[in-house]
Amino acid sequence: MPELLSRKTVRARKAHVCSSCNAWAVHPGDEYERSTYVFDGRVYDWVQCTGCVAITSTVFDWLDGYGDDGIGADDYAEWAREHADHAEHGEAARAYIARLAPRAA
Ligand SMILES: [Zn+2]
Repeated sequence: MPELLSRKTVRARKAHVCSSCNAWAVHPGDEYERSTYVFDGRVYDWVQCTGCVAITSTVFDWLDGYGDDGIGADDYAEWAREHADHAEHGEAARAYIARLAPRAA
């Protein structure tokens, strides 16, 4: 499973695609989270918009951890679809779906 090497909150100088929602959700001037992982001998960065940072622990709990291949945007999307009407998480789930929408159009 992926091993976290570092995680930091940084301010964007340019727009970034969020790794968890696959949308251009990080805009210049926004704070976002950049984590560096090593997995299978490969080092990579995982960029997250603040909206996805806020739901990460919930999605991980729902998935019961990383699994063998880590967690990707598909897992977040599945969580959001299942929780769109959830009493506690519905708002965050619908916000996630709304971030996806411009690319789906
Ligand atoms: Zn995101």
